[in-house]
Amino acid sequence: MRKRTEGRVHSPGLVRRMLEYVRGREQLLVRGMDEWPLLLLSYPTGSREVAEDLRDAWLHTLPALHTPLVGPYRAMLPQLPSVVVILLRRRNVCTCLGHHHPAGTESRLTRRIAADTGGRVGEIDLAWEAIREWQPSPLASLAAAVAEPGFGQLQSRTALLTILLHELEHLSYPDRAERTVRMSSDEFYSAMLSELLCEEGFSRYGIIRTSTTP
Ligand SMILES: [Zn+2]
Ligand SMILES: [Zn+2]
Repeated sequence: MRKRTEGRVHSPGLVRRMLEYVRGREQLLVRGMDEWPLLLLSYPTGSREVAEDLRDAWLHTLPALHTPLVGPYRAMLPQLPSVVVILLRRRNVCTCLGHHHPAGTESRLTRRIAADTGGRVGEIDLAWEAIREWQPSPLASLAAAVAEPGFGQLQSRTALLTILLHELEHLSYPDRAERTVRMSSDEFYSAMLSELLCEEGFSRYGIIRTSTTP
């Protein structure tokens, strides 16, 4: 018989995932403009702040954007199922920032809502910590702005909305190639960040020159 291992060290990630599992999840229902889908944000208990950030970005930041790159996304929104469940996680084990869940692979929560309402319900997941840390290439030209107070918040709101729209585009057009969807979302990210930075008085930083903001 082998001696029992004492003082086993569990990775903080494992402990946190276990805690989230036993504490359970809560939901926040977000109703946007008429033709847009209802979003049901499902988040681990204790992480309501993340769900509220996403709600505010969806309800207030997205409708106020001027960049023409938001147009194709607005056109796509009415084609989505009338309800979309968004599973918020800190991270995905596969390290992806998010996924869309093809029909038939949805969680029990989503299948139950679809059965109870008799409608089509879509589902995606978003890994908020990984999204916050995501630094796509345009940021390289922003090295000076990164240190400014308020920049991190703008950047993470931009990243969250970008990945949300990216996954919703997959849900709307399941046959569209990743490259095409990715190209739109990369361009959207730069345009949105430029616009927000400009509004917040960061215009002295070089990125504004490449802005598509009218
Ligand atoms: Zn993945
Ligand atoms: Zn994708």
